[in-house]
Amino acid sequence: MTTFLIVLAALAAAIALVIGVPAIRRPLISNRVLAVFRKVMPPMSQTEADAINAGTVWWDGDLFSGKPRWEKLLATPRPTLTPEEQSFLDNETEQLCAMVNDWETYDLGDLPPHAWQFIKDKGFLGMIIPRQYGGKEFSAYAHSQVVTKLSTRCSAAAISVMVPNSLGPAELLLHYGTDEQKNHYLPRLAKGLDIPAFGLTNPNAGSDAASIPDLGIVCKGMWEGREVLGMRVTWEKRYITLGPICTVLGLAFRLYDPDRLLGDTEDLGITCALVPASTPGVNIGRRHNPLNAVFQNGPNSGKDVFMPLDWIIGGPKMAGQGWRMLMECLAAGRSISLPSSATGLSKLAVRGTGAYARVRNQFKTAIGKFEGIEEPLARMGGNLYMMDAARTMTAGAVDLGEKPSVISGIVKYHLTERGRLVVNDAMDIQGGKGICLGPSNFIGRAYQQIPVAITVEGANILTRSLIIFGQGAIRCHPYVLKEMQATRDADRARASRDFDHAFWGHIGFTVRNGLRAFVTGLTGSHWVRVPANVAQENRRYYQQLTRFSSAFAFVADVSMLVMGGSLKRKEKLSARLGDILSMMYLASAALKRYEDEGRQQADKPLLDWALWDAMFRAQNAFEGVLSNYPSRLVATLLHLVIFPLGRPYVVPSDRLGQKVAKLLIEPSATRDRLTAGTYLGSPERDDTLGLIDAAMEAAIHAEAIEARIRAAQKAKAIVGRAPSELVQAAVAANVITAAERDQLTRAAALRDKVVRVDDFAQDWRVRREEVPPAAPRARVAA
Ligand SMILES: Cc1cc2nc3c(=O)[nH]c(=O)nc-3n(C[C@H](O)[C@H](O)[C@H](O)COP(=O)(O)OP(=O)(O)OC[C@H]3O[C@@H](n4cnc5c(N)ncnc54)[C@H](O)[C@@H]3O)c2cc1C
Repeated sequence: MTTFLIVLAALAAAIALVIGVPAIRRPLISNRVLAVFRKVMPPMSQTEADAINAGTVWWDGDLFSGKPRWEKLLATPRPTLTPEEQSFLDNETEQLCAMVNDWETYDLGDLPPHAWQFIKDKGFLGMIIPRQYGGKEFSAYAHSQVVTKLSTRCSAAAISVMVPNSLGPAELLLHYGTDEQKNHYLPRLAKGLDIPAFGLTNPNAGSDAASIPDLGIVCKGMWEGREVLGMRVTWEKRYITLGPICTVLGLAFRLYDPDRLLGDTEDLGITCALVPASTPGVNIGRRHNPLNAVFQNGPNSGKDVFMPLDWIIGGPKMAGQGWRMLMECLAAGRSISLPSSATGLSKLAVRGTGAYARVRNQFKTAIGKFEGIEEPLARMGGNLYMMDAARTMTAGAVDLGEKPSVISGIVKYHLTERGRLVVNDAMDIQGGKGICLGPSNFIGRAYQQIPVAITVEGANILTRSLIIFGQGAIRCHPYVLKEMQATRDADRARASRDFDHAFWGHIGFTVRNGLRAFVTGLTGSHWVRVPANVAQENRRYYQQLTRFSSAFAFVADVSMLVMGGSLKRKEKLSARLGDILSMMYLASAALKRYEDEGRQQADKPLLDWALWDAMFRAQNAFEGVLSNYPSRLVATLLHLVIFPLGRPYVVPSDRLGQKVAKLLIEPSATRDRLTAGTYLGSPERDDTLGLIDAAMEAAIHAEAIEARIRAAQKAKAIVGRAPSELVQAAVAANVITAAERDQLTRAAALRDKVVRVDDFAQDWRVRREEVPPAAPRARVAA
């Protein structure tokens, strides 16, 4: 026995010596593993490398670490508006909302000319441009607030404003433009003297945008009367927002230098240039019809258009740097635009549909009180609480200087998908009222247009399947990128040292996460440390999220080990791993919102619903990964480690859902916080949301009065067949006062207005549209 123990101790000491001493383990183990990695690691193209290296890692890195530092997240300041930004939101943005609405823009086919002029004059197109160039220099959060509010009123206005402030000429110029380019274009863009568009997508290159066939050839040519070095560019673009009316077109194309006029390289790579739309040979003007959303969007093209090299953004030295530039800027823009517009649409849906569900009666009951309607209402409220939390937190991160590439994919995907859920639920709750389009339908156009957000700035299926985990696993992981860099390093000595360090760090990291996941799973995560300053009622969420983070990091590492480079092609597994990361991000945002808003107890059902839903979805995503794992043995072991006592989460309870639904169908500070920034307009002008809010308040007052009338009728104190007869009898019998009768009359009038559905002359559509010349009618044989 003693000998056995001595042998065991010697063996352990030998292993510890080999693993613990770099000088021994490097030649024995690390260099051999490095040699294998060099052989099996799939090659990475420059465009892939640019995409992976773009942007920064923020809270996503913590969630990937297995041990998120909650103190760090909670110490991040809550984004706020400056007085100037607040005033712009309360005045100019409110005024623009009053000028436009989805119905009129659809009827007009565009924003009305006075609204376009207002947008230009008031600086909506220059929100991200610094003051020194005449722009507003707003924060990302202010930009997000403006887009959110506009989206609650008119999507064409929101999109027309958000695109110039997102990935496009201004953003690219700010980061890479020469002084001359900035001084020329930025003041013009800020004042709306130039309208920008950015053309990347080609008919043959959509999601795979790096493969655009649009071509520039470096050559000499005549420019303003003298021979200069320039490029002859041929392109065909489609889907370009603001393209039909742009005056300056940002253009991405692949630049070649076959005569080596610029240097030794023939294929210089993707290049971005700014092309005045008035340049001879530029074809713009035609437009698409993106789901009747009527914002300007269309194709453009050019054939052998000669342009000086100075038109390259950043000048000739930036030739071939276009993809890197686009990827770096995408991280910021994608964090703001579509998350904000999806949240705006959802605010509109929640505010209006909650009120509608209280105003609309069926079976003598407000439909919002039926259990069947409570369920979608709860989903709408819980989803919106979380969406707005993630939108705000992410905009705040951008303002702190982050360009969160993985997070931008998370919020783009999940907020647009949840926006789609919210709007779908709103449609179902409104029934026929949501279906018949017209000035009093506030949801039908949102429903119609939601797929636009799903498709642009990285189509959602691709973003989920390829980007969120695919990029996250490399960027957010503390060791994988270092291992990859060492594998590709030509300096063998440095590669050996760096790889050894990263590889053993990685092993320790995986083992620690596996152990933590197992122990926290076994103990129900009750002993996980949580910062003392968090709301104690949410303590368990922090603990469970830490547990899920350890489990996620462990499963991710084991998956990379088991599947290596092929994990990239297993898109369904990659998508589910991305879902886990995303749910943890959204849940973190909701917890932070609760703290930032001063722990509003009345809002707790919204937070609880959002957290239970997110944790349940994350748990399902784990299940989806494990039940489809290529190795059953590994899957079983992983299951044992991460769910040793079974799965802890179930769907949010019906009782919780009922509490959330109630918050949506009556006025309260919670409802106002949830839908803050929604344009209500005025009930006097019959602005739909203002009207429906007024109708809801009147309906609630009326409910109590009607209950007294029903009670009196039941007690046979009053009689009457028609409702009006009963009311008169109730007044006569002093069951209600005359003032209360007037309240009932007002509530009924408002209800009638709200439930009214627009109708049109039978030949309305024919009269509006140009009627094509009638084809000669065939003679019908007698
Ligand atoms: C209204 C509108 C406005 C736009 N504005 C602009 C603009 O201003 N400038 C600009 O340059 N472009 C713009 N676009 C283009 C937009 O970015 C593209 O539509 C988008 O990149 C998707 O390309 P696609 O439509 O050709 O779809 P495809 O690339 O054909 O994709 C079709 C489907 O396949 C999926 N898919 C593709 N590859 C994969 C994969 N590897 N794994 C899983 N799924 C995959 C996609 O997710 C999608 O669901 C706009 C598009 C629209 C509709």
